[in-house]
Amino acid sequence: MIDEPIVAAQGVDFSYYNGLVLRDVTLTLAPGAMVSLIGPNGSGKTTLLKILCGLLKPKRGRVLLSGREVGRLSRREIAREVALVPQELSVPFDFTVREMVMLGRTPYVRHLRGMTPQDHEVVERTLALTNTAPLAHRPFNELSGGEQQRVIIAMALAQEPQVLLLDEPVVHLDVNHQIEILELIRRLNRQAGLTVLATMHDLNLASLYFDRLVLLDEGRIVASGSPGEVLREDTIRRVFRAEVRVQPHPVRPRPQLVLLPPGA
Ligand code: ADP
Repeated sequence: MIDEPIVAAQGVDFSYYNGLVLRDVTLTLAPGAMVSLIGPNGSGKTTLLKILCGLLKPKRGRVLLSGREVGRLSRREIAREVALVPQELSVPFDFTVREMVMLGRTPYVRHLRGMTPQDHEVVERTLALTNTAPLAHRPFNELSGGEQQRVIIAMALAQEPQVLLLDEPVVHLDVNHQIEILELIRRLNRQAGLTVLATMHDLNLASLYFDRLVLLDEGRIVASGSPGEVLREDTIRRVFRAEVRVQPHPVRPRPQLVLLPPGA
């Protein structure tokens, strides 16, 4: 039997003012999928994430979460199913890491003072899972970029979602912290069964860490499949307007791109 998709976008069109930003997008995520959304700047990746978690409404088509139409669910019901990790989070107050992660429980409690022992247990478990427990008492605003990213992921996980949507989770990080965050995301996927959809700029990291890539170009899905199926020299040339050579990774069975700039 095939599992019912946990997320399904069907024939979605979207525009902000005029001109379609998403065109007839159909995308399904099976439970436990680990998928990266790639595509040039402005191709509609962030917009699609916002549509999938109900922050934006499609102009045409629909989005289903475990078979239920997003438009018919309350914000709390959506938040228990899907959590979005945004590209940036500005925190105006001196929240500590533990307080930030507690905020992730808001879909479950009316007020933070109304947190039950079970809510506190989820917060402590989430701090441990994301390796943020040693930072729990520190003010969020004083942390490094990599530490902040782990806390934002922890906050999203405290919602206990089935699906984690991440918008460029490693874009501001150095290579060591990029790998640390991607290892964390993969562990959550493999061990906790979390369904993951992440937008990624770095195509080589996307290839290494994700089972399936979905390529957006001007609001349309133009390729979807394994990294080997999607990362092809002709496709990259057409969509990203960049000359590349595709080579096998020396250790993992995943393709890697080598740039061939015009002057090289
Ligand atoms: P990506 O994440 O792939 O860079 P986005 O989804 O952010 O793409 O943007 C897709 C298109 O929608 C771009 O042309 C962008 O300028 C436009 N856009 C994004 N957000 C807004 C907004 N809030 N208002 C108007 N236009 C927007």
